[in-house]
Amino acid sequence: MRPEDWWEARHARLVKNEESFRQYNNRRMEQEPVDSDDDEEPIPFLCECGDFTCVQALVMTAAEFADAHAAADRFVVLPGHVFDDVERVVEHHGGFEVVEKLDMNVDEMWREAGGGEPNPSSAS
Ligand SMILES: [Zn+2]
Repeated sequence: MRPEDWWEARHARLVKNEESFRQYNNRRMEQEPVDSDDDEEPIPFLCECGDFTCVQALVMTAAEFADAHAAADRFVVLPGHVFDDVERVVEHHGGFEVVEKLDMNVDEMWREAGGGEPNPSSAS
């Protein structure tokens, strides 16, 4: 495998990991008994960084969560949980940072990395 291929595979896996955590957090948000624009109640979410082993919590309100995910390529991570080669920090908050993906075709990269079709219909 060429180094370029390895890096592409790594990028794709990082982003895929972050997307799965983001989906988890979205489901969690739907189950919280607060309004989606509530800015009072702190809610624990999972860090959405690209570290497969990171399951640390970060706390924010529903309004902050919605704001942070206003764009599809934005994720919330703990301070310092930033992979500079695939993303950049666009917002700094007290207990978390909002990162934005650098421009790339994730689905294509994922397939090329052998990850199969993105978003399979059989996803649980
Ligand atoms: Zn993390």
